[in-house]
Amino acid sequence: MRSFDELLKESSTLHGHQCAGQILGVRMALLGCREVAIDEPRGCKKLIVYAEIDRCATDALQAVTGCSLGKRTLKYLDYGKMAITFLNTETGRAVRVLAKDEARKLVPLYVQDSANSRDAQEQAYRIMPEEALFAVKPVTIEVPPQEMPGYRGKRVECAECGEGINFNREVERAGRMLCIPCSQEQLRSNGHAGGAKTANPKVLLIVGSKKVGKTTLIERLIPELSRRGYRVGTVKHHHSDFPVSVDTAGTDSWRHRQAGAAGVALVTPTDIALFRNGENSLSLDDIVAGLGATDIVLVEGFHNEPRVKIEVRSARSDAALCEKDKNLLAVVAPEAHPASVPSFVPEDIQPIADFIEREILARTPKTGASTRGQIP
Ligand SMILES: [Zn+2]
Ligand SMILES: [Zn+2]
Repeated sequence: MRSFDELLKESSTLHGHQCAGQILGVRMALLGCREVAIDEPRGCKKLIVYAEIDRCATDALQAVTGCSLGKRTLKYLDYGKMAITFLNTETGRAVRVLAKDEARKLVPLYVQDSANSRDAQEQAYRIMPEEALFAVKPVTIEVPPQEMPGYRGKRVECAECGEGINFNREVERAGRMLCIPCSQEQLRSNGHAGGAKTANPKVLLIVGSKKVGKTTLIERLIPELSRRGYRVGTVKHHHSDFPVSVDTAGTDSWRHRQAGAAGVALVTPTDIALFRNGENSLSLDDIVAGLGATDIVLVEGFHNEPRVKIEVRSARSDAALCEKDKNLLAVVAPEAHPASVPSFVPEDIQPIADFIEREILARTPKTGASTRGQIP
């Protein structure tokens, strides 16, 4: 096996930058391979790894072991956990290596005089003993034949979309063989899952300081949630006092308003626009109701409202808007951002949408401790 520094350099090249995740990932890979007695994982063909998160460390795992999705030797389990399982398919020995959350708190014990917390974290993760960083547990894994690299199975055509399905991923629904997306779509339209057409849409606040990327996040969540069968509405809180200039001077609707109408509806064959006086005359609930049939309404702003929210933070602003807010469900920020709630990087649109589906849209909200705050 090559040296740690050599491996770190390779993994950082593959990943695009060096970060604490690369250091952790390289160390996890070295530890895991050693535990399952694989001296040189590259090209060895008997190693399968299961990554439980798609983050920086996963790239390091790939760089060190040479395991990859394409070779079917890297399996991705979307659990959002910093854990990797290593399996030696020849001996059957397998271990799960978990990166301990507490490791971060131990950083000051190992590195004191560092320019910033990120540097300190990177330096500490290089030198901390494995026991401080990781928990290792032997596990038993039965790999079904269709999961093995090199498996050749029959290909099935989805009865709904007609596309080919490999590796036994077809699902039987009422006697028909469907691909996973089509089977989920069917569940939705039967009202068993997500896209239930509720009279009271769920409301999720997307909060954060100015220019941190709230609009971008909303703009990317809309197509992702829509693709999953939800009707998405949005509300934007605008801070300036002067009147919205959508209803421009001279138009008929503007003339109605000028003549003293408290509310004016402008109706066209494709759109309806409502103009009403003053934000204080309407509650957020009224506004949401006015959006018509939606499953979820993403509200940009209104961070003081006691409703579930996701805060968008920038790399630099440590001034969190809603750190102590019990309704704060998650944080979206560049990597290595400390937060007491789940955090995502802005590129993680699918995991964020999964999270929203699970924590907010699920028809039967989980009663477990992971559901924080009040789901409206
Ligand atoms: Zn990284
Ligand atoms: Zn299909």
